Amino acid sequence: MKYADFYQRSIVTPEQFWQDESALITWDTPCMQVLDYSHPPFARWFVGGRTNLCHNAVDRWCATQGDKAALIAISTETNTERTYSFNELQAEVERCAAVMLALGVGRGDRVLIYMPMIAEAAFAMLACARIGAIHSVVFGGFAANSLASRIDDARPVLIVSADAGSRNGKAIPYKHLLDEAIALSSARPAKVLLVDRGLAAMELVAGRDEDYASLRAAHLDARVPVTWLESNEPSYILYTSGTTGKPKGVQRDVGGYAVALASSMKYNFCGKAGETFFATSDIGWVVGHSYIVYGPLIAGMATIMYEGVPVCPDPGIWWSIVEKYKVTRMFSAPTAIRVLRKHPPEFMRKYDLSSLRALYLAGEPLDETTSEWIAGELGVPIIDNYWQTETGWPILSIAKGVEDLPTRFGSPGVAMYGYQVKLLNESTGEECGANEKGVVVIEGPLPPGCMQTVYGDDRRFVDTYWSTFSGRQVYSTFDWGVRDADGYYFILGRTDDVINVAGHRLGTREIEESISSHANVSEVAVVGVEDKLKGQVAVAFVIVRHGEQIAAEAGRAALEREILGVVDHQLGAVARPARVYFVPQLPKTRSGKLLRRSIQAVCEGRNPGDLTAIEDPASLQQIQHVLQDCVSK
Ligand code: ATP
Ligand code: MG
Repeated sequence: MKYADFYQRSIVTPEQFWQDESALITWDTPCMQVLDYSHPPFARWFVGGRTNLCHNAVDRWCATQGDKAALIAISTETNTERTYSFNELQAEVERCAAVMLALGVGRGDRVLIYMPMIAEAAFAMLACARIGAIHSVVFGGFAANSLASRIDDARPVLIVSADAGSRNGKAIPYKHLLDEAIALSSARPAKVLLVDRGLAAMELVAGRDEDYASLRAAHLDARVPVTWLESNEPSYILYTSGTTGKPKGVQRDVGGYAVALASSMKYNFCGKAGETFFATSDIGWVVGHSYIVYGPLIAGMATIMYEGVPVCPDPGIWWSIVEKYKVTRMFSAPTAIRVLRKHPPEFMRKYDLSSLRALYLAGEPLDETTSEWIAGELGVPIIDNYWQTETGWPILSIAKGVEDLPTRFGSPGVAMYGYQVKLLNESTGEECGANEKGVVVIEGPLPPGCMQTVYGDDRRFVDTYWSTFSGRQVYSTFDWGVRDADGYYFILGRTDDVINVAGHRLGTREIEESISSHANVSEVAVVGVEDKLKGQVAVAFVIVRHGEQIAAEAGRAALEREILGVVDHQLGAVARPARVYFVPQLPKTRSGKLLRRSIQAVCEGRNPGDLTAIEDPASLQQIQHVLQDCVSK
């Protein structure tokens, strides 16, 4: 089938299109109305239909492939590995659901899940889905303050957690952080359910804290039927990464999400029941929700849940997993591939990766160097996909399951079915032509699977996302993009990552891309820094590929000149950074997103703000040091 026709049908007759797609999942009651868009921008999909995410992810497959692998939990932190078949997964989920019911959790109640990447985290998510409780997974790396603000917002009746996570072989105790967060918050949960992994000591609070293993044992044979939910009942709340400020509580539905995931598993990820999917993300992020837990299982695939870092015990670990479990589709982030690229390719080459059909990358711009390298090593298509926590599944990509369209370097691809993507001129709000830069927006209604609203705050949903252009209600992604004549999009960075140099508005991403094209640049971050004369100037922080060149001051100066020359040549002198600094690493969130705002704050001598999501705080200190060194010289 031609993708263009498929796409057109999804836009011109969305109700028919999604009605057909809804057959990919099981419904207890079919819907009465495919779409209710009578109160824009709030879209209600499959109105009156009753279904259940857990049923579609687990029970449905027990009938036909109950003994096949469903969840493969691997931890290189604790050296444990266990495969749960669909039947075993169902039993575990029912035990967990029974425990939750016994602790007083009911339909519509919130359950906050603050867990490391262990099988019990997936049991807890699926158990919530089973009984109609709304889960809110909070990334295990967040500290007490971030956790407290999410507790306050979601007001959970139950928190599910563990004694500790583990990173690089070091236990990271959770319990005291959790106690601190609960003390800080004004919405105290009645119960806290704890998985004791034996990694760190825990002090249980009498009457509040419960031990999962004992309660599970008491419900070993529990049968908990699924609760059929109206398609538009909330399934979960997930907070955005917070790269650009206060995180937003994205609320998602049940039926639309299940259908969107089933479709994307078919058309984007070409997943087949019985095969194995490996997404290297974390359940604390949207990729973890959609493509570690729900998506692959809804498609009847085995899914891998990996606790550990990509380079431990050695940089071949992921590839050994691909070989062992015959992974057919893998999903990761460019940042992880860049990390692997720093290691000898032998770590990959020694494994038999012939099962792998494609590698999907998302979360941040995919640079050409990284993409070419990994494509060369794996010999399979590398498929970039652009989306957000808000949308739950790809907005831009190449749907190889529909038509084998070519990918283009630097482009995540074309608009995905269901998404009426447009580029609007920032000042006039008019539609951009080919190769004209604009804000990436989506014309309502958003397709199934996208956020319903900001949890508890419809106003904020409308004000934040739908009010960027006066007189025109469109969903703003807050990203810049251009589209070529063939409909391929290129993402140029976030709309708030724009700098204003003497009246010229420049996207920091464009400057970064230009700098990246220098052969000795491995990674780069560009930020706008206040300047008395020009308003703002661009400043670049570069990680080099070969350190020898910058060992001496003269080498640094020479490389800086070369880099500035590249920018001059490609973008013009106006985009030329005022300074290029060389650093060993860049501050990123644990999901691999560059913390440009924090870098900018440090450059301007301000407080870098909330850093709980930062991967390594030393990275910001290193930036501080190079800045100080230069001032003192
Ligand atoms: P917050 O909205 O709280 O600031 P965030 O935007 O970082 O956090 P996410 O929803 O995890 O949280 O990230 C989505 C953003 O990531 C997109 O809007 C885009 O800027 C970037 N992004 C995701 N995938 C890609 C991609 N394939 N190419 C380029 N950018 C991407
Ligand atoms: Mg965002």
